Amino acid sequence: MPILQTLGPQAARSPAAPIEPAPVAAARRYGIVSVPSLEWNAQVERATAHLYERVKPVIPAVEWPFFAPYVQAINALKRERNAVILAHNYQTPEIYNCVADFVGDSLQLAREASKVDADIIVQCGVHFMAETSKILNPDKTVLIPDRKAGCSLAASITGADVRLLRQKFPGVPVVAYVNTSAEVKAEVDICCTSSNALEVVESLRSDTVIFLPDQYLAKYVAAHTAVKIIAWQGACEVHERFTADELRQYRAGDPSLHIIAHPECPPDVLAEADYTGSTAGMIDWVRKQRPRRVVMVTECSMADNVQAELPDVEFVRPCNLCPHMKRITLPKILDSLVYLKEEVVIDPAIADKARRSVERMVNLKR
Ligand code: SF4
Repeated sequence: MPILQTLGPQAARSPAAPIEPAPVAAARRYGIVSVPSLEWNAQVERATAHLYERVKPVIPAVEWPFFAPYVQAINALKRERNAVILAHNYQTPEIYNCVADFVGDSLQLAREASKVDADIIVQCGVHFMAETSKILNPDKTVLIPDRKAGCSLAASITGADVRLLRQKFPGVPVVAYVNTSAEVKAEVDICCTSSNALEVVESLRSDTVIFLPDQYLAKYVAAHTAVKIIAWQGACEVHERFTADELRQYRAGDPSLHIIAHPECPPDVLAEADYTGSTAGMIDWVRKQRPRRVVMVTECSMADNVQAELPDVEFVRPCNLCPHMKRITLPKILDSLVYLKEEVVIDPAIADKARRSVERMVNLKR
């Protein structure tokens, strides 16, 4: 493995996204509509029955009367507003399966956001994802249902930190995982996701690369390339909690169990896995392999979403939830569409620079 040097704060900063005053410009542009009825009745039950079929394996029938009126109201308002909903794989099943137009990991959503024909994008994910959609769609209105949906990785580094790294390592190219703020993306050479990190690092044709902010993804890349990696010490607070011991215990209880893991996990956890990949890669793996029992070592809701699609696979769930992803709920999505909040606004100069880094990544595969 090439020498790996790590830099940055041991303790991540506050994981919340930056608090900005709630912009009202979107509401002024499009107007506010009235709040639809949220009554559960026979008409709502009939109209949403096909959606309940999708989530029946993971949402008990007794809970559906709470979700269904929101699902119906959100889907009607999407049409009225010419809006689309992008939902990350870690969103809860009623969002992922019943109101989302596009689902996927960061790279898939970034690509869909750039193709989408709509006035409004509602990003069901965390703040850096909504910023990425805005960066790629400067003329569209991008909303996030809860502005405080942050990320421990994105909060671990600032644009000023990247400028200091450039001073310390002049001429060394900088790769930023997409789990970073627009301000950080604006300072780097190229972005990457967990599915293309290795390809992005090697595309730079440099013997040394600065990789930020995830120390574990950096270690995973370093283990698979001859490029020397200088890594920032950020971490995902969800994936960092998994331990190799707990996975060994699962395996001891059922030697035929399959273990698949996300590369944001520590190296000793990845060493226990039969497969390591991005969220999209993990879902593809389960679709193709159809294991009898599997543990997905990642955020807990993803197993629910795949379970809804593949009810014959048994998922063992070490339930580590991302508190930031869980800030997004159906009532908040409805509020977003009624009141046009919270609008994501990025300084155009920063957005232009950040777009170059994101587009360089998106264009790599084309
Ligand atoms: S799961 Fe981890 S990387 Fe993803 S948003 Fe939550 S804290 Fe950030």
